[in-house]
Amino acid sequence: SAVMDRVLHRRSLQIRNKQQEWQESPEGLKMLEFRKSLPAYKERDALLNTISQNQVLVVSGETGCGKTTQLPQYILESEIEAARGASCSIICTQPRRISAMAVSERVAAERGENLGESVGYKVRLEGMKGRDTRLLFCTTGILLRRLLVDRDLKGVTHVIVDEIHERGMNEDFLLIVLKDLLPRRPDLRLILMSATLNAELFSSYFGGAPTIHIPGFTYPVRAYFLENILEMTGYRLTPFNQIDDYGQEKIWKMQKQAQTFKKRKSQIVSVVEDAVEAADYRGYGLRTRESLACWNPDSIGFNFIQHVLCHIVSKERPGGILVFMTGWDDINSLKDQLLAHPLLGDPSKVLLLACHGSMPSSEQRLIFEKPEDGVRKIVLATNMAETSITINDVVFVVDCGKAKETSYDALNNTPCLLPSWISKASARQRRGRAGRVQPGECYHLYPRCVYDTFADYQLPELLRTPLQSLCLQIKSLELGGITKFLSRALQPPELLSVQNAVEYLKIIGALDENENLTVLGRNLSMLPVEPKLGKMLILGAIFNCLDPVMTIVAGLSVRDPFLTPFDKKDLAESAKAQFSGREHSDHLALVRAYEGWKEAERQQSGYEYCWKNFLSAQTLKAIDSLRKQFFYLLKDSSLIDQNIENCNTWSHDEHLVRSVICAGLFPGICSVVNKEKSIALKTMEDGLVLLYSNSVNAGVPKIPYPWLVFNEKVKVNAVFLRDSTGVSDSVLLLFGGNISRGGLDGHLKMLGGYLEFFMNPSLANTYLSLKRELEELIQK
Ligand code: ADP
Ligand code: MG
Repeated sequence: SAVMDRVLHRRSLQIRNKQQEWQESPEGLKMLEFRKSLPAYKERDALLNTISQNQVLVVSGETGCGKTTQLPQYILESEIEAARGASCSIICTQPRRISAMAVSERVAAERGENLGESVGYKVRLEGMKGRDTRLLFCTTGILLRRLLVDRDLKGVTHVIVDEIHERGMNEDFLLIVLKDLLPRRPDLRLILMSATLNAELFSSYFGGAPTIHIPGFTYPVRAYFLENILEMTGYRLTPFNQIDDYGQEKIWKMQKQAQTFKKRKSQIVSVVEDAVEAADYRGYGLRTRESLACWNPDSIGFNFIQHVLCHIVSKERPGGILVFMTGWDDINSLKDQLLAHPLLGDPSKVLLLACHGSMPSSEQRLIFEKPEDGVRKIVLATNMAETSITINDVVFVVDCGKAKETSYDALNNTPCLLPSWISKASARQRRGRAGRVQPGECYHLYPRCVYDTFADYQLPELLRTPLQSLCLQIKSLELGGITKFLSRALQPPELLSVQNAVEYLKIIGALDENENLTVLGRNLSMLPVEPKLGKMLILGAIFNCLDPVMTIVAGLSVRDPFLTPFDKKDLAESAKAQFSGREHSDHLALVRAYEGWKEAERQQSGYEYCWKNFLSAQTLKAIDSLRKQFFYLLKDSSLIDQNIENCNTWSHDEHLVRSVICAGLFPGICSVVNKEKSIALKTMEDGLVLLYSNSVNAGVPKIPYPWLVFNEKVKVNAVFLRDSTGVSDSVLLLFGGNISRGGLDGHLKMLGGYLEFFMNPSLANTYLSLKRELEELIQK
């Protein structure tokens, strides 16, 4: 170990010399100058002193003041100066993949290095990290995953948890774990960083830890609300013709509701009604109960946004525009629409950029660069640009007022949340983004009266999402009883949602009756997907039908590759229907579409294929790469047959694949009753439900299966099921749920509950005969 120490020391000195060289080079000097101009620099000594004397520190400061890029670097630099550059290990967590990647690249550049030297990153299934990496930016999920195998974080000297004000589920969870770890690791340092000023909350959670605020400066920003914008831009209202039935009905309902409401508050309603029209019918719905207008969750009023952008580009002074959208899909569709616009799509006038997780880093860099003179930069982004990414030359902000959190993290059990109104704090934060370099302007695309109804702060994620993955993680980290553990959170979730999650994990067989992790549960906790999708993968491996199952799981955890452009909805839906044939399965349709695309790719015609079939090539590519990762993960965990060819022996057996889908998606199940002219679908919890119109099972005259299993249901005005697959009675009986739960009897009893509820006689018969057969079999 003395030899080891000497080697480390020598290495540390080398690192120190190399940094000095860089800092004395012309580029290095320039960079250093920039870094010294950031507000955080003034606090450098105070920060480092407090860290050396306290185990926990809470840091707050305006977005852009240098928390994320500077503070971890200060620590690294002070370690290097103290000749510990080869032995320290600093981990800085980010709530999102893209910020982990973007920030690490930036910090490496500030240090005159390539990524993977002293600075690296690691996100799910991807990373850039070398032998000498001492400062690692990773997602919170990655650190939790590491805790799975390294409970004491051996060798780690500093943990920095960034953006804690967002109160993401993973971050709240990590804080409980770290709070327990600190007494066991007295030398470990924990730094919490937050943009807004609720530092006291975190400080008191850690027994009154010291806090340091970095004062920042921003220019004033003028706020416009919808009523001002309509007036300023003279937006022409779109007539309500050319609307499909669904839309027409919705408009009709909205108008009726608006009339009722009008009697009470005519003034607000006229604004709201204008808003409904202004944003075109796609953009707005109306909720009278809360007496406010709201965006239609399906889509934003693109025409209106386009109109506002045109106004700014052609009438307002120069300066970048940052548009806050709800999610990736919206960003892409809007970008396509804008690119086709004569002014906004003209590259000599407008540099149009999208900012999202899966974009290539070359495009990522453009976001931070100044465009050429006379070219206006427009960046379409999600709420991640609120705090984790700072674009300096933004002067105008366009805020749609909604946010949808989509996450690919394993621990986040919500693949798709409905867009909902942001909080006042978020709106303020978005507005602030316009005042980085000079006074700015913010266009809030909703009426002032709607803003007034926003909550002050967003509810912590732990209190508004299903907790299944989290509970599984608590068990696999051996953190004790789930309820007790979660009661120690900053703001503990409701008992009921914890119980729901535990019950769900028991139903799918991840936990036994005593809440102990089963073998299946342990395997599920290793896979970076939701438990139900993990179960599908494992069964796909066990039953040797891996290829199609991997495609389905990848599709469900990335996003739907089937596009439904609004103006070509029918064409798109019939294109999708071709992939289903008589299979009555959206999941199998996805498999066919993916396989067709692979074939087309081999013949160099992937793009034509996508174009013709309304498929997103980008999504298919993402699915493709995720599949590869699944394969390696399964191979590593030796779930795949040694003889690799075997794992697809049954891939062409559609019935088997259907059964595996059922096993994964249960208890997401609804009964099918074919009536003369229509089909009635029912779930146990919701009663009647509907299918999204792009499902292959929607609008068919008959579904020849008594059951549909589905991945996801969304409540809008009715409950809608997204993708579904038809299954037979016997498949449901054998694959639905967990046969080992309470023995065969227990399993059948539970299914019996479904059977009684739906009062389905054919299932009853199958059930009885199957029970008899199985009992006989067991007796033998
Ligand atoms: P905070 O975490 O406090 O919000 P950051 O450390 O992310 O602030 O950013 C500090 C400053 O560094 C920003 O104001 C911006 O000027 C600059 N910066 C950050 N990332 C980049 C980048 N990728 N390219 C250029 N400048 C950047
Ligand atoms: Mg930051």
